[in-house]
Amino acid sequence: MAKQSNQEILEISVECDTEAAEAVSELFNRYNGGDYDDDSEAGEASGGGAVVESIGFDDWGKPIDGQFRMWVKTYVKPGARGDQIRRQIEEGLWRLSLLYPIPEPQIRTLREEDWAHAWKKFYKPLRVGRRVILKPSWEEFTSQPDDIVVELDPGMAFGTGLHPTTRLCIAALEDIIQADDSVLDLGTGSGVLAIVAHKLGATRILAADIDPIAVEVTQENAERNGVPTGAGGVLDVQLGSVPQGMAGQFRVIVANILAEVLAKLFDAEYGYPPLAEPLAPGGVMVLSGIIDFRADIVEEAAQRHGMAVVERLQEGDWVTLIVRQA
Ligand code: SAH
Repeated sequence: MAKQSNQEILEISVECDTEAAEAVSELFNRYNGGDYDDDSEAGEASGGGAVVESIGFDDWGKPIDGQFRMWVKTYVKPGARGDQIRRQIEEGLWRLSLLYPIPEPQIRTLREEDWAHAWKKFYKPLRVGRRVILKPSWEEFTSQPDDIVVELDPGMAFGTGLHPTTRLCIAALEDIIQADDSVLDLGTGSGVLAIVAHKLGATRILAADIDPIAVEVTQENAERNGVPTGAGGVLDVQLGSVPQGMAGQFRVIVANILAEVLAKLFDAEYGYPPLAEPLAPGGVMVLSGIIDFRADIVEEAAQRHGMAVVERLQEGDWVTLIVRQA
């Protein structure tokens, strides 16, 4: 750390599964996000968001049954602001515990300088799919010739590759994307799937999200990963959803959203064009974010629009459907 300090810092830690981890990370990023600024007064600075620690992976980055464990942590500075953040986090965790089976948070005090050097070692490159590695910017990674390395830092909310639905999409894209493909990434979040699509060979990509922060973060992540954006680039990032006036323009549509939202997008219930409209003849959809017992509503919606499920991928309770014209 730049400044000598013997200040104490509070660590809030929750052990959870990957699904709850995404929700807990979001909570920590919301109440304790931003860069960790060691130069500001005690309690003034925000604490760097969520840090994820996990153990028990095989060589391919797949969790090993019975060995896999994951903790999401955040670090809060002492002082009035810190107390407020802690209260907000504890309240938020309590609300989340009504939705997810998460244990009580473990809270302990660390010396700040111990923490500052320690935390980065826990966020490691993660192999997702066969060729794709998601890695934090400060980690070195020796890649194999065919590897695709995407740099994504935590604290950037959604789409860190932790969630099974993102992993399933990446695995599907590895099989589907061809050279010079055109791809629509709907609900792009951090831009992870758009960046992966480009690195797999796609050269015309539209990434859209209804969340302005996602649009901003995707733009940043694209630049960081050397994906040319804007006029003359390969990636266009837009605020919104299914694009207007682009009927038949994309050979691949990937959408990792939610079963209910996907079904409504098929039927144009949000006022955007129907989901199948931008798909090129003979094109393929990768639909994800679907909890298994709701897969039928997506399948039925696809059928209403002349499409059929040709493959179903599953990890835990989550399903990804590969859909083509019937
Ligand atoms: N594609 C990323 C992020 C998925 S999170 C990944 O696979 O990891 C889902 C994203 O969909 C969120 O960023 C959310 O803002 C966005 N979203 C939700 N409803 C949407 C809609 N109707 N149209 C477009 N994006 C939507």
